[in-house]
Amino acid sequence: MVTEDQIDRSLRIGSERVRTADREILPVINPASGETVGEIPVATTVDLDNALAAADTAFRSWRKVSAFERYKILRQAAALLRERAPAIAHFMTLEQGKPVGDSMAEVQGAADIFDWYAEEGRRAYGRIIPSRTAGVRSLVFREPIGPVAAFTPWNFPVTIPARKIAAALAAGCSCIAKPAEETPSPTLAIAQALADAGLPDGVLNIVFGVPDHISTHLIASPIIKKISFTGSTRVGKHLARLAADGVKPATLELGGHAPTIVFADADIEKAAEMTARSKYRNAGQICITPTRFYLHEAIHDRFVAKFRAVAASLKLGDGLDPATQMGPLANSRRIDAMESLVSDAQRAGARIELGGERKGERGYFWQPTVLTDVPNEARIMNEEPFGPVAVTRRFKDFDEVVAEANRLPFGLSAYAFTRDTTTATRIGDELESGMVGINNMMLTTPETPFGGVKESGYGSEGGAEGLDSYLVTKFVTQG
Ligand code: NAD
Repeated sequence: MVTEDQIDRSLRIGSERVRTADREILPVINPASGETVGEIPVATTVDLDNALAAADTAFRSWRKVSAFERYKILRQAAALLRERAPAIAHFMTLEQGKPVGDSMAEVQGAADIFDWYAEEGRRAYGRIIPSRTAGVRSLVFREPIGPVAAFTPWNFPVTIPARKIAAALAAGCSCIAKPAEETPSPTLAIAQALADAGLPDGVLNIVFGVPDHISTHLIASPIIKKISFTGSTRVGKHLARLAADGVKPATLELGGHAPTIVFADADIEKAAEMTARSKYRNAGQICITPTRFYLHEAIHDRFVAKFRAVAASLKLGDGLDPATQMGPLANSRRIDAMESLVSDAQRAGARIELGGERKGERGYFWQPTVLTDVPNEARIMNEEPFGPVAVTRRFKDFDEVVAEANRLPFGLSAYAFTRDTTTATRIGDELESGMVGINNMMLTTPETPFGGVKESGYGSEGGAEGLDSYLVTKFVTQG
């Protein structure tokens, strides 16, 4: 097991490590206890300029490294992540709170992402177009876009950075990543695995600090050619405006508020079990978590009874305890948000079927919560809760539930449960959502595209689309 003093929570800029002794610091807090477990340095403007220069220089040579050489480095990094998974998972749980088994699975998932992009980077094919003139060649090339600025949140501290970093590097881009200050060590572990696998200095740089200072400075620099952000719609809109000033493309993975529709003919027990397990994973702090449960009036109470029983059986606790099934919320801001959203829903007329309160005063634990018959006026029906709260409403017919599901400006994920293939096809067609799960909730694999529509963002990560977003098209005609 790696111990705390072996974790190097430094800024990584080119070949330099900028340590806390030389900078202002931010504490890293264990959400299960509220105690400080480490600290990170705050990047200065000079640090950011150094990171930009390092990414710029490294890009010029990395783009010329053959796709096959890049593949070998990324595959080796994936192998190292797997080998180091227990230590990385331990520190992820310490900083973020999720059960350590989930952290282990997440590290394995990040390794799979590196493997997949390593392969996909070898297939960034161009094409040859038949020319109108004899002796003239019309060639289309796919080239890396340039140095990328990547901003990632705290809820999946290893897979979200992995998606951005693996795709950018496989495409031949260099990258400056700013992970969430709450959860620094998993992205640093990725950087270390890549360095040990032979990634040249400067291809991946890691900075922490004041988020708005970092994003404003990096996005304004002419060195940065693309941004990628995962986080709230509010911050995403702000970064999109900054990117627009430099006409820079952005991939934005923003908030969600997933409608989850259960038709009367569904396998009710199975749907309730499956959605309850999914809802409370990562204490509900997942952008694609099922949130608004639209339950046909004939099965509402039966579904809620089963869902409630599963939720009530979950063992809450410190994620480092292997028996824990749901950990704390990631920070005190989430506790404040839960208190405010649940009390508002109650005032609006919602019934609390389960939970609805904080658990204990130590750390940031919130009980698995089920609110039923929640009016649309309640804030929680309109704002992303990003916590362990499920809300239900009853519906009578197909058109009514489609209108309800599509009512919000979000369009990230949506789920439906039915045994009828016609209903399944129709609901898949009607939902305004970047991703739809029908009798299935698995939306995230390395090989499938992940992304939203409407105010949930634009662009996809994962799949061939994920690599494509780091490439530009060049047409060369040669006589
Ligand atoms: P937040 O919006 O302030 O921060 C979210 C993430 O964005 C953090 O990692 C933060 O470091 C980063 N960030 C914030 N301002 C930034 C800026 N100006 N430039 C660059 N990065 C910036 O909110 P929060 O309190 O951390 O989380 C609250 C909300 O964020 C949640 O309710 C949820 O809606 C959303 N969120 C979404 C995801 C997701 O996976 N889509 C993940 C985490 C949080």
